[in-house]
Amino acid sequence: MDSYTLLYRIGLGLIFGVSILSFPALFFYTAPYGRHAVKGGRRINAFLGWVLMELPSPVCFAVAYLHGPYARETVPLLFLAIWQLHYFYRTVIYPFHMRLRHKRTLVTEAAVGFAFTAINGFCVGYAVSHAAHLTLEWLTDPRLLFGLGLMVIGVSINIHSDTVLRNLRAPGETGYKIPNAGLHRWVASPNYLGEIIEWIGLALSTWTLAGLAFAVFTIANLFPRAFSHRRWYLSEFPDYPRERKAIIPGVL
Ligand code: NDP
Repeated sequence: MDSYTLLYRIGLGLIFGVSILSFPALFFYTAPYGRHAVKGGRRINAFLGWVLMELPSPVCFAVAYLHGPYARETVPLLFLAIWQLHYFYRTVIYPFHMRLRHKRTLVTEAAVGFAFTAINGFCVGYAVSHAAHLTLEWLTDPRLLFGLGLMVIGVSINIHSDTVLRNLRAPGETGYKIPNAGLHRWVASPNYLGEIIEWIGLALSTWTLAGLAFAVFTIANLFPRAFSHRRWYLSEFPDYPRERKAIIPGVL
């Protein structure tokens, strides 16, 4: 077994293992950033922290991808393009839009994010360029078509919901308001719902274990956090609509 394959297997094991442990734990412990931040701790500029957390994703994906025997095939190249496009948005466009330059973020948060996106980017890049089933025939496979459809829906929900949040604050404002536009009328965290749909779409359309691991991790991380957000809204805003769910409209 070469070192890339060994790293891929260890990485997959870590992502599944951390997801299984963190899903129940995050219902009791809320990661201390954003509205759940705590005082103290070593901090760096939030813009820099965000870029450090996201940048390993496109870089490690590309490194592992180029090692694969199918790196020049059409379908793997399509996933390379989708991944790089998504992370260009996440790494460059999102932090500018969210006006992060004057905020501070915990060093530990940036370090954990850096480690996860490095491992995850590596695993998905490796999986896509080592997948013998991603041939031209895959382009008409229902898993690819349905999965890509889910990705488009998920990205649209995520970007629209994040845009609604961003527009709640005037330049220089830092406080919180009740969002009421789009899917925010139905759930506390529609941006997380979009994120989860997007990565379930990737798992389906690539039909790889690494895609599944990323979707499972995203659910394990964001599902409990959506409940924390809802509880926080209810405790901070007496007029917050109690019927508004955490993440699945009308259900949860
Ligand atoms: P949040 O919804 O907690 O916050 C998003 C942004 O909107 C922050 O800048 C926040 O400010 C601001 N905001 C949120 N609610 C309000 C409000 N009521 N009034 C005013 N401003 C508000 O999302 P996250 O920061 O956790 O995540 C950001 C993006 O990253 C999302 O798209 C998410 O899906 C994605 N993500 C993906 C993960 C994955 O595992 N794939 C993991 C984590 C995030 P402030 O920072 O001051 O709270």
